Amino acid sequence: MKKDQVFEFFRRLAEDNPSPTTELEFSNPYTLLVAVVLSAQATDASVNLACRPLFAKISTPQQMIELGEEALRERIKTIGLFNTKAKNVIALSEALIRDFGGQVPRTRDELQTLPGVGRKTANVVLNTAFGEETFAVDTHVFRVCNRTGLAPGKTPEEVEAKLEKIVPQPFRRDAHHWLILHGRYVCKARTPECWRCVVADLCRYKPKTPMPKSARTATPESSATRTG
Ligand code: SF4
Repeated sequence: MKKDQVFEFFRRLAEDNPSPTTELEFSNPYTLLVAVVLSAQATDASVNLACRPLFAKISTPQQMIELGEEALRERIKTIGLFNTKAKNVIALSEALIRDFGGQVPRTRDELQTLPGVGRKTANVVLNTAFGEETFAVDTHVFRVCNRTGLAPGKTPEEVEAKLEKIVPQPFRRDAHHWLILHGRYVCKARTPECWRCVVADLCRYKPKTPMPKSARTATPESSATRTG
């Protein structure tokens, strides 16, 4: 995609959703970190459902350690891979206290020393908690970047490196949210909804999905719109 097309791509996503953010619920960098760790291979909705009552009582690593692994496991058992995740959350809480004075560190290298925290999680925390211009490449971002031709790559790292290079200001900070939301609600994995996509003319994906009959007969109120 050419430079002016990349600008236009993000300009339209921004126009459509001027203040994008994560759909995970959190109250501080620590609860965001925990929520992101819990969200691996799970939906944000399922994480929010389990974390809402948990975060009402627990907002620091010390409180999490006092809760303990067994009680945490019980509280997050509706989330996939909860056994491993409970272990990681307790271990990362211990590491935060031991190595970082109980605070969430602000560099990628430091974040990645924590149990259960990979590059993608670190990028989400840096971006969403600390306002850094990082590009977290999850399954949605990876798909959208490849399908559209915006930032094609064989691995998430390759896509991230391309995004780093091509995303212009003033879109760098929120780019990954726009891409996630676009992938989640419009450029869906199985069937991209090209007929209602604001960047369809800039996207190289072919053939574009035509508007289904059900959408053609729907009233304006009942037709599909983006929800986040
Ligand atoms: S036109 Fe279709 S494939 Fe391209 S970004 Fe939009 S929804 Fe995705």
